[in-house]
Amino acid sequence: MKVTFPHLGTMHIFCKAIAETAGIDYIVPPKTSKRTLTLGVKHSNECICLPFKIILGNFIEALELGADTIVMVGSGPPCRLGLYDLVQKVILEDLGLHYRWLTIPPRLDWPALLKNRDETRELKKELSLKNITTFPYALWIGWKKMMACERLEKLALRVRAREVITGRTEKMLQKALAGLDKAKTGRAIERAIIEGEKILGSVDQDRGRQPLRVAIVGELYTVMDPQINRGVERKLGEMGVEVTRTSWFSSHILRSLGVGRENRRERLRYYRASLQYLGYDVGAECNVSIGETILRAKDGYDGVVHLMPFACMPETTASGILDRVSRDLGFPVLTLILDEQENEGRITTLLEAFVDMLMWRRQRFH
Ligand code: SF4
Repeated sequence: MKVTFPHLGTMHIFCKAIAETAGIDYIVPPKTSKRTLTLGVKHSNECICLPFKIILGNFIEALELGADTIVMVGSGPPCRLGLYDLVQKVILEDLGLHYRWLTIPPRLDWPALLKNRDETRELKKELSLKNITTFPYALWIGWKKMMACERLEKLALRVRAREVITGRTEKMLQKALAGLDKAKTGRAIERAIIEGEKILGSVDQDRGRQPLRVAIVGELYTVMDPQINRGVERKLGEMGVEVTRTSWFSSHILRSLGVGRENRRERLRYYRASLQYLGYDVGAECNVSIGETILRAKDGYDGVVHLMPFACMPETTASGILDRVSRDLGFPVLTLILDEQENEGRITTLLEAFVDMLMWRRQRFH
């Protein structure tokens, strides 16, 4: 059995750690590239959202490399993510590819687990007793690595906005993540965090700089994956902006599990703030994008960048409302709609213009 999973942000680091620790063979799909996108686009309906196409491309490439078991997260309505597995299975079968599929339910409740009963029964036949008994420990290692990745990425967001040599933080972040990737035990992960923080701390910074503060909101896949968003977070950082985002793997996993009081409280705050514009929960990140923008404006942020894939239903709703929020509060919001035709130069130009405008506002009003 060789498992594979989508390529999303730093997900490969901790998914790989889970598989390695549990002694399960795996294939990491190649980094999302033009080929990945071409494959996904070629075999999808053109109206489907961009993450669907990219994930499909990831799976085709991983299956070509010998993977035979796909692990994919599920979701509920109205977001299309809840239907990804059904449709992608049909497409992969039509392509003559052979695989088994395991959907991780969005909520770990009994109906969801029962729905997965057949898939899990099949997979269990392939697992040894050692695989099964070490699995809880493997999950713990995976969780620790995921939290470590996020800690280093969050530190990089602060350092990047103050770096003296443009691009230095990104280089150091990649070095720190590579060190973390090699760590095999809980202790080694702790050491890799300390080492990673040292590496990022070695970046020359202008500590007197008061960077602009911008929050990135929007569809989780486009917010969390630099390949899809064409490095928006990094570009903003290198323009001297301190970026904040609330979409992290840990925040979404904790929400699915219904744990993490702080995380739930924050999401509820955003949801409640959105209700003055929206009378109900649209689903996915729609309400959070709106509520977070309102609260960031009140918290003194300089602006919000709203990321969404072309044809994303919840975020299309959010973008219309964000126009009004921006007008009502006099608060700058830049919505970037990303699709497979995206030209990186366009994103850079839009971000540069947005940052120039924020700078001008800061000088004028503060
Ligand atoms: S949130 Fe939008 S882009 Fe993401 S899966 Fe749902 S519909 Fe597609």
